[in-house]
Parts: sequence; C-alpha cells; structure tokens
Amino acid sequence: MKTLDQLQDQYDVIVIGSGLGGLTAANRLAHFDRKVLLLEQHFVLGGLAAYFRRKGHIFDVSLHGFPYGMVKTCRKYWNKEIASSIVQLPRIVFDNPQFSLETSFTTEDFTDKLVNNFGISRETVDNFYKTLAEMNFYDDQSMKTAELFEQFFPGRNDVVRLLMEPITYANGSTLSEPAITYGIVFSNFMNKGVFTFEGGTDKLIDSMAAELEKNGVDIAIRARAEKILLQDGRACGVQVGGKVIRAKSVLSNANLKGTALNLIGEENLPEDFCHDTQQMRLSTGSCQVYMGIREGEKIDDVGDLLFTSTHPTFDPAALIDKHVTSRTYSIYYPKTRPGLDRYTVVASMNAKYEDWDGLSPEEYAKGKEYLCEDAMAHLEKYLPGVRGKIDYVEAATPKTFERYTGHLRGASFGTKFEGLKVSENLPKAVPGVYHTGSAAIIMSGWLGAANYGVIVANQVEDFLCKS
Ligand SMILES: Cc1cc2nc3c(=O)[nH]c(=O)nc-3n(C[C@H](O)[C@H](O)[C@H](O)COP(=O)(O)OP(=O)(O)OC[C@H]3O[C@@H](n4cnc5c(N)ncnc54)[C@H](O)[C@@H]3O)c2cc1C
Repeated sequence: MKTLDQLQDQYDVIVIGSGLGGLTAANRLAHFDRKVLLLEQHFVLGGLAAYFRRKGHIFDVSLHGFPYGMVKTCRKYWNKEIASSIVQLPRIVFDNPQFSLETSFTTEDFTDKLVNNFGISRETVDNFYKTLAEMNFYDDQSMKTAELFEQFFPGRNDVVRLLMEPITYANGSTLSEPAITYGIVFSNFMNKGVFTFEGGTDKLIDSMAAELEKNGVDIAIRARAEKILLQDGRACGVQVGGKVIRAKSVLSNANLKGTALNLIGEENLPEDFCHDTQQMRLSTGSCQVYMGIREGEKIDDVGDLLFTSTHPTFDPAALIDKHVTSRTYSIYYPKTRPGLDRYTVVASMNAKYEDWDGLSPEEYAKGKEYLCEDAMAHLEKYLPGVRGKIDYVEAATPKTFERYTGHLRGASFGTKFEGLKVSENLPKAVPGVYHTGSAAIIMSGWLGAANYGVIVANQVEDFLCKS
C-alpha cells in the first residue's frame, strides 16, 4: 500500500474504488502492462465484499453464496490459489409457511424438488431451464419475470417463491424486472450449486491485494477521489486529497450515479446522458445482523444458508418491509476459516433506505436494537438456546452501507436494469471515463461485478491503444 505522497504524478489508468469490479479491472489492466493506480476511500479493500473484526470474531458482509462461474473468473483473471479456495455450500434450507425443504441447489436436486415436492412435470421443468438458458441479453427485453413464471407455473405462488426468493435476496430484483435479469442470474446459480470462499472474505481480499501489488499496481487506501478531472471534455486525471494525479483514462467502481453526477459533475455531462443518469433507479438496500458465538461454544449444523420467512405467501413488497418477516441466515461454521474453530451467524434482510433515513439518533438506535432482537429470536427456532451462546451482536442498515461504500441510498446491488445503458454510455458521454461494478442486476453480485470488471478493463485497454 502507498500513501498519497508516494504516488506517481501520472498513470495510464486510475481505478476509483476497490470493490470486486474495481479490483478485477485493475488486475486485468496490470496484465496489459498498464501503469495502474487503485484508489480506495475506506481503510480496507473490497467494498461490499467486506469483512470486519469485533471482539475476536470476523464477520463477512456479503459472503453468502455465489455461482460456480466464480471459479473460472478467478482462475483466468486472478490466480490458481484464489480459484482453488472456492468450495460448495452443500446445505441450502428453505423454511416458510408454504414449504420446508433442503436442497444442494444443483440442477439435479432442484429438478427433483420441483417434480417430487411441488408436482411439476419434468417436461415443464426442463423446458423452463431450457428457456432460461437460451435467454440472451440482446433478445426482446419486454417480458417481465412475473410473466415468465405465469407461462410455466400458472397460479403457483409456492413455486415462484422457491425460484424467486433466493434471487431477490441475492440482488434485490422483483417480479416486475425484465425476465432476462432473472434468467441470467438463476441460470448462473442453477448449474452446480452455491459456492463460498474457504478462508473467508479477509483471505480473498488479502490474496487479491497481494496479486495486484505483485503485478505492479499502486494501491492507496483512505484515498477518496474528490473529482474526475477533464480537459477538453476528456478524462485527464483525478483529484484526491487535494492532489492532482494525471491519467489518460479513469475507471470508476464507485456508485454509478455518484460517479456521473458528483465526481464528473452535471455541468460536464451531455444533456441526454445527464437526464438518463438522473432518471436511473438505484437498487434497494439491505439490513444485516452479525452474531458472534462465544469462543469455545459450538452450534449444530442446521444448514449453510437458511431462507426463512413467516410471511404466508411470496410477496416482494413484504421482503423489503421494515416489519421484517423474511430473514436469510448464513451460518459460518469452523470450515469457513479452517483452524480458527469459530462460529458466526449473519442474518440478511432486504430493506428500504427511506425507512432508516432521517431518524433521530435514538430512533435509529432503537431500530437497530429491534433488528438484533428479532434476528436472534427467530434464529432460536433453528438453533434452540443460541441466544445464550451469542456474545456479540451488531446491526447494519442501508445507512451503514452508504457510509462505508459511498453508495447513494445504500444501494446494495447497484442500479435497476436501465443502469447498464448508463454505465455503457459513460465513455461516449465523457471520453476516457469508464464505470464498472454492480449495475442492472445482471452485473451485480460477486460474479457479475468481477466479470464486468474484466469487460470494462478490456474496453479501457482498447481506448488506451487507440489514444
Ligand atoms: C448485504 C449484502 C449481501 C450480499 N451478498 C452477496 C452474496 O452472497 N453473493 C454475491 O455474489 N453478492 C452479494 N452481494 C452483492 C455484492 O457484494 C456486490 O454486488 C459486489 O461486491 C459489488 O462490487 P462492486 O464492484 O460493484 O463494488 P462495491 O463493492 O460497491 O465497491 C465500490 C468501492 O468504491 C469505493 N469508493 C466509492 N467512492 C469512492 C471514491 N470517491 N474514492 C475512492 N473509493 C471510492 C467504495 O469505498 C467501495 O470500496 C451482497 C451485497 C450486500 C450489500
């Protein structure tokens, strides 16, 4: 890591933000032998792929599960060591008033559940998968996810719940999103199952930082980019800590709206692009409760990922309601960090920013306390007596995510679908400035963000070759 004083005056590319998109883009550009500077405002790298330590516990913020595709992405764009730490989460549990079941989330097992537990014909299930697999980003995007489900499983809210609830948790998408967003994300998961990183987020991010430094990337933490600088309407550098660092191209991994409207500035954007950016909807946010199990205590294996709900039916509005009825528990057994013999549990809930914004400090603290109590009380159903084993509990809200990552409104998954067009059009509006990172649902999540980092790094390289 370098301090601002140790940085060079000029780079080929400055990457703003060290989320998985920014990290992967920086590494890819280093492989093209570009001089790369990576700026991160926080004091740790990783963005939403975050971890933090409290009283001997290590908590993972977004290590709940990602598709198998991450193995290939890490092998190709990081290294073999990182790729080989990716392991399957074998036990995915659903428990709600409509059904209770356990699945490995593989094609075979999921098909078996749809056929034997829900009575859907094998032919319908196969046709459903086939339709999803054939979906392509350039096809007609007018079909909504709700219509897709109605076509295959008419009137079956329970089947929709099984198919949709994990995806809503994974990226905040709803039934009114274009069906293509569901198709791509579900097909990514519904392949070989759900995967995690053995060693935890800390090991992943440390390994990525080491690889970047080995490849010559200069990294500065506590380094908030204040402005993307332009000359004759084109990128020419970044202002950070009052210092100007020049670069032919700037790749922002910061929130897309914030990048355009704040880092570049409305006054520097073409009218149409500025309008599209202002109209672009951000994704919803999240609340989480982090629970640490006292050292020496053990908990039973009740599954790795528990999708629980007390709501009678699948209802996306209920999933983001402040009166929580649906909670996803990630249970981290000692296998998460071999050798440490520690357990933690993280409860995740989708949430609305406006429910947490503008509260008095007392109301906010009370709201967080309620979240903690609620998450522990419901966990008792699966792990009786667990409350007595928890020696640390803390909650995060969309305000927490906003504070630590700079994401406007604490958006957890970037932007709604229209954000991809805005992200792609940024270099047309301001030559030399690019965006990567969570956008449009399909580019969000660990795999989406990392892959989008590669795609945009290739575009930056193309730009640098031509300029
Ligand atoms: C609660 C929660 C749970 C999740 N669970 C999962 C999961 O189980 N599986 C999964 O695949 N995905 C999950 N996700 C989503 C996933 O974590 C994100 O989609 C992904 O990590 C985002 O990567 P990104 O590249 O968009 O960058 P981000 O992680 O958004 O990082 C952006 C970075 O830019 C930095 N930055 C911003 N402004 C500036 C500035 N001006 N100067 C310098 N730096 C700046 C920020 O500090 C941050 O580090 C979850 C997200 C949340 C919130």
